[in-house]
Amino acid sequence: MSLDDQQFMRYSRHLLMDDIGEAGQLKLLNAHVLIVGLGGLGCPVSLYLAAAGIGRLSLCDPDRVELSNLQRQVLYTPEDCGDFKVDCAAKALQALNSETQVSAFNYELSTGGAADGSAQVLASDYDLVVDCTDNLAARHLMNRHCVERKIGFVSASAIGWEGQLVAFDFGHNQNPCFSCIIPENTAEPTMNCGNSGVVGPVLGAMGSLQATTVIRMLLGYFAQHGEMQRYDGKAGRWFNLQAQAQEGCGVCAAP
Ligand SMILES: [Zn+2]
Repeated sequence: MSLDDQQFMRYSRHLLMDDIGEAGQLKLLNAHVLIVGLGGLGCPVSLYLAAAGIGRLSLCDPDRVELSNLQRQVLYTPEDCGDFKVDCAAKALQALNSETQVSAFNYELSTGGAADGSAQVLASDYDLVVDCTDNLAARHLMNRHCVERKIGFVSASAIGWEGQLVAFDFGHNQNPCFSCIIPENTAEPTMNCGNSGVVGPVLGAMGSLQATTVIRMLLGYFAQHGEMQRYDGKAGRWFNLQAQAQEGCGVCAAP
């Protein structure tokens, strides 16, 4: 397999880079990535991944577009209000890059039971899962799935002026995992964007960092398993912190 003339033009800024080149672009074109949550993080993540030429994107989100989303969810327009986010996102991403195959699941990823559609969403072979949700139940489900399948997991969140990202390369590392940082029995946080607010571009910064991390991992450049990156947009500062494996973690600890 090699690139055609259109692809050589379209992806020329990748092809100019020695550590991407044609071989790297072909890896991206052959990749299948699941993005869970098409809100403030999922919008920039999906836009950059479609633009980068990721071959297949699967989108999962049960929500419909609301007027209050437009302050930060940059894929949507006022005309989209009332429609499923995944359908509007799929349309916009296809307009951006018709080569990318987009699948849309308007399901909630929560308990993992067959009734909520999670099993259907997780049935495909993904190279990597991107967590752009706002709830712990979905995060823990994705974490378990990625540990079991030994695939990459890139999780981020943001509230107010602050965002954080943590990524796991389970293809090469067993632990720590997400539940080593936040155990599975932890209650959902009471503060969220819906009741506490968020600065739109903080989500853009974190989403761009997620997309960069995804591209890096798909190309095979990754050495920061379990490192948390926190951004304080008000102070204009980044902080890094290495997560530690928890002995006896019910998800990633060896039996
Ligand atoms: Zn763990």
